[in-house]
Order: sequence, then C-alpha cells, then structure tokens
Amino acid sequence: MELIFATNNQHKLDELRSISRGRLDIKSLSDIGCTDDIPETGETLEENALQKARYIYNRYGKDCFADDTGLEVEALGGAPGVRSARYAPGVGHDSQANMRLLLDNLAGVADRRARFRTVVALIIGGKEYLFEGVVNGEIIDSPRGSNGFGYDPVFVPEGWSKTFAEADSDEKNSVSHRGRATARLVEFLINRS
Ligand code: IMP
Repeated sequence: MELIFATNNQHKLDELRSISRGRLDIKSLSDIGCTDDIPETGETLEENALQKARYIYNRYGKDCFADDTGLEVEALGGAPGVRSARYAPGVGHDSQANMRLLLDNLAGVADRRARFRTVVALIIGGKEYLFEGVVNGEIIDSPRGSNGFGYDPVFVPEGWSKTFAEADSDEKNSVSHRGRATARLVEFLINRS
C-alpha cells in the first residue's frame, strides 16, 4: 500500500523503510511534489502531528501520516516539549543553543529525569489514528558523542551508560521514541492489510 509520510527528513524516511522492511510503499513530501511549509501551530505533540497529517490529506486526498517529537524534562514541568526544536530564542532549529539552554536551566538540579515522546498521526480512508512511543532516561551535565541530532548528546536512556549520540543508529532505533512509535504504526498497517 502507498502511504505519504509528511516529511522530507531523509533520516526519518530511512528509519521507517528499515522498520517496515519493504512491506509498505512510503512516499515523502518531495515524492508528491509538496514543497509547502506545513503549519505546526499546536500546543501539543498530538495537535501538531494531526495538523500536519490533515494538511496533506485535505490537499492531496492520499492516506498519510505525520510525526511530532518532544523532549519532556521532569524538573522543567515537561519543557521543552512541543517547543523542543525552537527552545532557545532566535531562528530556531539550533541544536547547540537548545542544548546549552537546557543545561543552563538544569544547572544545580538533582532530578535529571526526562523522556523523549513521539506521536504519529495516521489518516487512512479519512479515519484518524494516533500512535505513541516513549523512551525514558536522564539529562547529563555536559554533551557526549557526535552521532544523531538534536538533544542526543545530553540524553542517556534508562539502563544505558552512553548517550544517544554515542550509539549507532540501529542501537538508538531499537529503543528510541520514534522507533517505538513507528514500529506501532507499521504493526497496525501490516495487520490491517
Ligand atoms: P521533530 O518533531 O521530529 O521535528 O522533533 C522536534 C525536535 O525534537 C527536534 O528539532 C529535536 O530538537 C528534538 N528531537 C526529536 N527527535 C530527537 C531525537 O531522536 N534525538 C534528539 N533530539 C530529538
């Protein structure tokens, strides 16, 4: 079955194709000629994922899904959460600045518990479904490792001693928030076909 993934992020596309092991025909936004800057104005991960999926479904009439992820830090009341990409003031999507602000806000804080949470919104035949994936862990004091992206260098998953940025991508995908959410999505799609 053909399904549009509302992203042009090659890393996410590769990850999903690897999880579905060729059983789904996943197309990206560029595959369908969509170059729009899809709005993400929701106050929650669920709202944003649904907003992106509905945007594509309403314009292209194709079955599709979208994801949204946030880092939720216990001592910060769940921040940066839905604002993870643009946590530090400025142009946004500056991982270094976001990590610096996070570490500054946690300076001297003993409770380092945090989790990554991904929500995937699927629209198929006009019906909407949500899938969630979570990985618990903690924020360390200073960045370690150079793999991955975003907050990976400061996040150590529960039961691990290394950060996500010190792991290779297979290792990370096997426990990660997005890996878990997309595995649930793939399982749902395969079981219904
Ligand atoms: P998105 O919804 O996947 O675009 O993620 C929003 C933001 O969350 C990203 O810009 C990153 O800052 C952060 N993020 C999402 N996934 C990860 C991850 O796997 N590792 C580290 N940071 C992530």
